[in-house]
Amino acid sequence: MNPKVIVADEPVSALDVSIQAQILNLLEKLQQDLGLSYVFIAHDLSVVRHIADEVAVMYLGKVVEVARPEALYNNPSHPYSKALLSAVPSATPRSSHMHSRIVLQGDVPSPINPPVGCRFAARCWKGQDICVAQEPSLQHHGVIPGENAGLVACHFPENSN
Ligand code: SF4
Repeated sequence: MNPKVIVADEPVSALDVSIQAQILNLLEKLQQDLGLSYVFIAHDLSVVRHIADEVAVMYLGKVVEVARPEALYNNPSHPYSKALLSAVPSATPRSSHMHSRIVLQGDVPSPINPPVGCRFAARCWKGQDICVAQEPSLQHHGVIPGENAGLVACHFPENSN
């Protein structure tokens, strides 16, 4: 069929680590040989970091942040991304933002009847009135404009200038 794009939905999630590595290596070889692009859907943040050129973080069916892996993992801009990454064990526990784990309070709203404003507002420690009233759009944001700039859907993102 010679596809240009392959959507891989949790392709390695049920595999043990050694088989995961083999599959990831195979995917990377196929990408190089055939010029493929992947939309790689996963919950394992270590796997995502290893394979992705660009990462989109989703919360309740919406993309809340898009960034290159090094920018996202070292300096997440959306509060949900920050909470998500704070739960990842690190080989260098003193590094960057991972000093302490952020434990989110509250429940995930129903995707059938999502909130009008920001979908993360009920669980966000930075929320203000505007967050409940108005859904934030995905906008350019970055500590360093240019290469490290990403997209974030938040009225009060981390790393704001
Ligand atoms: S828009 Fe407001 S509630 Fe939503 S993530 Fe940003 S600060 Fe938190």
